[in-house]
Amino acid sequence: AQEKFDAIVVGAGPSGNACAFTLATRGLKVLQLERGEYPGSKNVQGAILYADALEHLIPDFREDAPLERHIIEQRIWMMDNRSYCGAHYRSEDFNEERPNRYTIIRAQFDKWFSRRVVGAGALVLCETTVLELVRDGDGKVIGVRTDRDGAPIFADVVVLAEGVSGLIGARAGLRSVPPPDTVALAVKEMHFLPRETIEARFNLQGDEGVVIEAAGTITNGMTGTGFLYTNKECISIGIGCLISDFADKGQTPYGLLESFKAHPSIKPLLAGSEVKEYAAHMIPEGGYKAIPQLFGDGWLIVGDAGQFVNAVHREGSNLAMTTGRFAAETIMDLKSRNAPATAANLASYKARLDESFVMKDLKKYKNLPGALHNKHLFTTYPELLSKAAQTWFRVDGLDKKSKENEIVKSFFKTRRIKGLLGDMLGMARAWR
Ligand code: FAD
Repeated sequence: AQEKFDAIVVGAGPSGNACAFTLATRGLKVLQLERGEYPGSKNVQGAILYADALEHLIPDFREDAPLERHIIEQRIWMMDNRSYCGAHYRSEDFNEERPNRYTIIRAQFDKWFSRRVVGAGALVLCETTVLELVRDGDGKVIGVRTDRDGAPIFADVVVLAEGVSGLIGARAGLRSVPPPDTVALAVKEMHFLPRETIEARFNLQGDEGVVIEAAGTITNGMTGTGFLYTNKECISIGIGCLISDFADKGQTPYGLLESFKAHPSIKPLLAGSEVKEYAAHMIPEGGYKAIPQLFGDGWLIVGDAGQFVNAVHREGSNLAMTTGRFAAETIMDLKSRNAPATAANLASYKARLDESFVMKDLKKYKNLPGALHNKHLFTTYPELLSKAAQTWFRVDGLDKKSKENEIVKSFFKTRRIKGLLGDMLGMARAWR
């Protein structure tokens, strides 16, 4: 008889790896299919790894995972064309035995994770693209067809961990292709420097790291953000905006990255570096309202394919790993009860998500994607903030009361009271 798997996992990013690892560790028969030459070859991320999500899967990951720097300082910058206004948080508490956040390089990290998946007993096939789902006469998903030989491969359940740009779910009508105003396109470069230079430039010792998240006129009025992360011997720098904004404004992501790198506050941080890698990738940013149907007869969706990204907190890979783990736990639960993978039984995956931080966070920010689609947040306010800071810090004979009045007037003159109140109310409502 034809070989049948307990589960087929499509994709070997963090969501697929978390799912396949959990299933294989518990002795289920798992096949994982990845179209890339190796896991991670197709994947791009800033990248910050949130330890908590991985600890749930591999508590001792720190022993051999390819980690770059543990983050001891977070900088948030609001930028105009010549300045930035920032909030920085640095704490010795982050120099802890089990650090909470690390910078990583995804190609190396995904390869390591995949070795753990193989070690747990899953069959992992790379350079294998899933072409379509196979269904039975009642429409239940019972397997996949790949580009290997076109023959169907059968499983009790198929987990779609195909990322935001995966086409299998859409082709099968399980989810729609996300519209361009719910997906950002980000570009990223790796700038290599001697590690002593990075440590001196960012005031770091040993494997300590700094990350910068930036917003403002750097995106030319489009909804998006930039970032700069320190690795051991290189700096990751990138910027991304909604695809619909790129299309409307006729701007290119690469042009935006070039201006970001040339910004007077960024340029000295990269000075003398050698660029070795350039990459582009999409990020689902539609939030809670863009989440598709997540389960059905014989199938589940995890990670970016389900729009699981918290754009405000720059969290994606942790939601990917957590949804992958929850999907695996759901499947294991059915297996232990000998229950079939029907939509009704797989619905407990959604219940697990609803009870966790994953859905709670996304639900909390459900109106934020709409509120952030406001060009004033990325142009008018950063400029006003910079002007206000300059008025405040310059010592020029003007008395402080007059300076305060000048700052307040500049806000009302530029945005008018109705606009100001509308923006404030919009953000407050979306943040609740
Ligand atoms: P992916 O990582 O996209 O993996 C999907 C996999 O499926 C790919 O390997 C792909 O090749 C494979 N695949 C697709 N279709 C098929 C098919 N038909 N057959 C076989 N294989 C297939 N998150 C963070 O937590 N921290 C960050 O700092 C961060 N920064 C980011 C910066 C950038 C520039 C970008 C683009 C994203 C960032 N994210 C970050 C988000 C994070 O990268 C994603 O949330 C995460 O990678 C999602 O994991 P995934 O496994 O669901 O999807």
